[in-house]
Amino acid sequence: MHEMGIANSILDGVAAELRRRPGARAIKVGVRIGQFAGVDPDALRFAFEALTIDTDFAGLQLDVEYTAGRSRCHDCGQQFEISNYELLCPACGSMVIERISGDELEFKYLEVEELGDAEQASASGDCGSEREVN
Ligand SMILES: [Zn+2]
Repeated sequence: MHEMGIANSILDGVAAELRRRPGARAIKVGVRIGQFAGVDPDALRFAFEALTIDTDFAGLQLDVEYTAGRSRCHDCGQQFEISNYELLCPACGSMVIERISGDELEFKYLEVEELGDAEQASASGDCGSEREVN
């Protein structure tokens, strides 16, 4: 089950980000997975929970966005979502299409809670609580 390795990589990324932000605790990590990335979201959630339980990351939530693949037609330029592994352009029927997305496996965001400066954190609202990590 290679989802275990992917969950490990996600946690490595979270740990690396936290090293740059002393005093912060990770709350939630968001990842984007394309339908052709070969990752089972349920298996990934299961692996993630198994790896974080009884660790410093216990309670860290994993938010998986599962995205459909998109293709572009070389003949008419139409872009469309791939459903049922269609091999023809829905606009002109061309067979010459190219996949342009669907195999993503990337970080979307990391939500952290700032520890320490509690007064400032509550006064400034949610400013900076989310940021891109890729
Ligand atoms: Zn076309």
